[in-house]
Amino acid sequence: MDIINATLKGREGHWDIRIDDGVFGAIVPAGQRASDTSDADRSERFDAAGRLVVAPFVDAHIHLDYAGTEGLTRRNDSGTLFEATQIRAEQKERGLITFDRVYDNALSAARLAVSKGTGFIRSQVDTTEDDLTSLKALLQLREDVKDWVQIQIVAFPQNTVLSYPNGRELLEQAVAMGADAVGGVPHLEATREDGVASLEYIFDLAEKYGVAIDVHCDEIDDKQSGFIEVMAALASQRRLDVSVTASHAVAMAYYAEGYMAKLVPNLLAADIHFAICPTENLHLQGRDMVPAPRGVAPIKRLTDAGLNVAFGQDSIADPFYPVGEGNLLRILEAGLHVGHMLSGRHLDQALDFITTHGAKNLGIEDHYGIEEGKPAHCIVLDCTTDQEAVQHQAAVLCSVRHGRTVFTRRPESYETRMDGFAAP
Ligand SMILES: [Zn+2]
Repeated sequence: MDIINATLKGREGHWDIRIDDGVFGAIVPAGQRASDTSDADRSERFDAAGRLVVAPFVDAHIHLDYAGTEGLTRRNDSGTLFEATQIRAEQKERGLITFDRVYDNALSAARLAVSKGTGFIRSQVDTTEDDLTSLKALLQLREDVKDWVQIQIVAFPQNTVLSYPNGRELLEQAVAMGADAVGGVPHLEATREDGVASLEYIFDLAEKYGVAIDVHCDEIDDKQSGFIEVMAALASQRRLDVSVTASHAVAMAYYAEGYMAKLVPNLLAADIHFAICPTENLHLQGRDMVPAPRGVAPIKRLTDAGLNVAFGQDSIADPFYPVGEGNLLRILEAGLHVGHMLSGRHLDQALDFITTHGAKNLGIEDHYGIEEGKPAHCIVLDCTTDQEAVQHQAAVLCSVRHGRTVFTRRPESYETRMDGFAAP
């Protein structure tokens, strides 16, 4: 198929994009496409009519295995992360986390996300389950859906590595079974020393199995929670050839300027990536504090320093967050607001948070983007710029994966019924 009359980031004018055998071919100025003469029978064409065509969105952080479990036993009345963790443990104890439930809910969540333009998902999966049921369900799902979405799995020890019975063994088993990355929750370990020990163990596993690292790091309203500096130190010392991501990093919002001045250069030297979940942490953090803090990592500070920051949905209707629909444009809008990033220079590159930056976190950047020779994955947005995408929450009118159309959608329209009132 071909996509014609596309607006592409970084290029003036409109472009025709040729796709052959699931791979992007020549990208030529609109109207000059080679297919006019050599391939009169090229049957499928999508006319973008000047709209923006970008690579599919990347959700850098979500828990697909938790999706749809909100209210399964009871609802989270306090709204805190601590009550959510407790409810999750109760769900497991009551035997409600079955293979079929996890698989079906995660599949629904993945479909929802894809319908919003997502093509790549990094999902955390709880490994503090004695039989690793959720992991088995997600490994099966990763395989079953690979034609229309790529899922990466992070082995995630929700109830800690060191305190949970066999927590270390379960985490290693999950990586050995095929998780793409290894995670942790150092701020929830019993002591600071245990938190550091858990990170050392996580880096050991990453080295042994050659997998990426993606740790829930300092997701707590506590300026004394400083595991991010430990991650940076370990990444610099070990020099593993894998991407190292700190997810959430909420405590950074509370750090003193003097400490940040020391920390940020260390993060840069260690090439730490960030996965930030603005809506989730706006909901969870600082609930009883006056004045209420934003409770989200300092996105602008990190971005302006040159660190790679990607956004994620985190939850779709689970004990941690009762809403969410995998719509990364909504996440992006929230992230830009909470980060004070509606300035022109940030709006012009806004989609990076849910596209190229996410691709870097996932380590897929060599195969990601609209360039000749790369796999033909792209979406057509009902807008022409990043700023418009944010302003209008642009609909995804077409999604293409490996050169095949996943779905199309008609632009929204409505009819006026009153004299003198015209559509905008
Ligand atoms: Zn998370």
